[in-house]
Amino acid sequence: MDLLNLDSYLLPDNIKCITHWGDDWAWLGGGTWLFSEAQPQVKVLVDTQNFGWSEIEVTQGYLVIGASCPLVKLLDYPWLQEWRAVTGFKAAVSALAASLKVINMATVGGNICLALSVGTLAPLMVALDAIYEVWNLQGESFPVAAKDFQLGSRRTVLKSGEILRRVLIPLSHLQWAVNYQRFSLASTDSALAIVVTVMNHQQVRCVIAASVPAPRLFEFADLTTMQSQVSHFLADEFFIDDAMASANYRREMTAVLIHKTVNLFRAQTQRVNG
Ligand SMILES: Cc1cc2nc3c(=O)[nH]c(=O)nc-3n(C[C@H](O)[C@H](O)[C@H](O)COP(=O)(O)OP(=O)(O)OC[C@H]3O[C@@H](n4cnc5c(N)ncnc54)[C@H](O)[C@@H]3O)c2cc1C
Repeated sequence: MDLLNLDSYLLPDNIKCITHWGDDWAWLGGGTWLFSEAQPQVKVLVDTQNFGWSEIEVTQGYLVIGASCPLVKLLDYPWLQEWRAVTGFKAAVSALAASLKVINMATVGGNICLALSVGTLAPLMVALDAIYEVWNLQGESFPVAAKDFQLGSRRTVLKSGEILRRVLIPLSHLQWAVNYQRFSLASTDSALAIVVTVMNHQQVRCVIAASVPAPRLFEFADLTTMQSQVSHFLADEFFIDDAMASANYRREMTAVLIHKTVNLFRAQTQRVNG
């Protein structure tokens, strides 16, 4: 879609070229959302594609994913076999209710910073205890835990001019077992509920999303505890209530996905134990 209100499009080679910022400026990732509907509040777009940020690398004990990495690269990257959590990346990208064209263009940073309640990567990043590195225009950078980044639907902790630079995931977390569940009425519809669960030797981390405005993390000692407490911990949550589904329906479908996850993890454990 043509953005009729747009005054300027900037394509800097380096973020240092951007020395000031306005309330009507926006970073441009892949543009799959920015160009999909009218943006009356945006007058200046600052494209991030020429910053030359590396897409995916392993450094100092972390998997590092640059914000301008296209989602499709998460499918194509030659991941190590022992990184079991990579199945979560594949599930998250495939879960995007969008065409292949969107997945080719859309970026990791755009997906996370758009912060839709149905955001596909955020619940996985929260489950994996990822860290987001944020930059401001004064050249400072600071970490934000993925679980603290999204405040609500289309709301994040980012202040004016701040940009998500990269996502860091400790390599040890890539060995965690991951299960990504998504429910929608039709496969091309937006998700009504997403449940991402990871299991390591110490705990089970369960993140609910899409049914609530922003991803919510719950931690349990083991699967049995999680299953026995489902109705209790979901009862206190605020679920989205709109024309697509009632809050009660979303709560019930979230519970169904959690029970399905428990059963799948148990079946996997039984297979491994023979
Ligand atoms: C048909 C269709 C279906 C879709 N389905 C889904 C879905 O199921 N789940 C989902 O999550 N999304 C969905 N989307 C929305 C969107 O396409 C994706 O979220 C996509 O990943 C956004 O990434 P992008 O790089 O294209 O973002 P852009 O459109 O470039 O930007 C999105 C927002 O993020 C900001 N931004 C971009 N990069 C950064 C950065 N590095 N730092 C700070 N801010 C930044 C922009 O200013 C803008 O506000 C869908 C879109 C379409 C067209």
